[in-house]
Amino acid sequence: MISTKLKNAIRDIPDFPKPGIIFKDITPILKDAGLCSEVIEAFVLEMKGDKIDVIAGIESRGFLFGLMLANRLQIPFVPIRKQGKLPAKTIQEPCELEYGSAILELHQDALIAGQRVMIHDDLLATGGTVSAATRLVQKIGGVVAGYSFVISLDFLNGKEKLRGDSENIITLAS
Ligand code: IMP
Repeated sequence: MISTKLKNAIRDIPDFPKPGIIFKDITPILKDAGLCSEVIEAFVLEMKGDKIDVIAGIESRGFLFGLMLANRLQIPFVPIRKQGKLPAKTIQEPCELEYGSAILELHQDALIAGQRVMIHDDLLATGGTVSAATRLVQKIGGVVAGYSFVISLDFLNGKEKLRGDSENIITLAS
């Protein structure tokens, strides 16, 4: 259960990035250190002591709480980025997005085979982005041990796409 203050800090921006889309904006949370801590502690509580070795955060808003969560757990954080942004050798996966398509990349040496990875993003919509992230992690031998999102747009059924890989899907708001 998250506080009303946290719930209210997620604001709806109509017609962004294009007409007809209501964008969920988490930037008001970032302005309040107490709310950031609430997000992180809510994730930690929901993880129920699961053994997670690495947090993989998806560009770009997945870096915000992904890194904070990894640091809170004192485990590594690895970035999953759009094509052409990561400097060392990468692997690639295409992904279908709500507003188009893209290629995601992960450093080849981001993980040690067998490491248990929690994939994190700010928001789950159709699940296309996080499915591509799942394939990246698995390609280099990582085990997807869970997912965490600040927000889930449940009406888009993204969770159904993920259940085959992990039933451990943490979402704080919808
Ligand atoms: P999906 O691939 O359809 O699940 O879309 C999720 C991706 O799109 C995530 O990386 C989100 O950051 C981004 N996204 C889609 N809709 C929103 C929104 O309303 N607010 C913030 N991010 C969004």
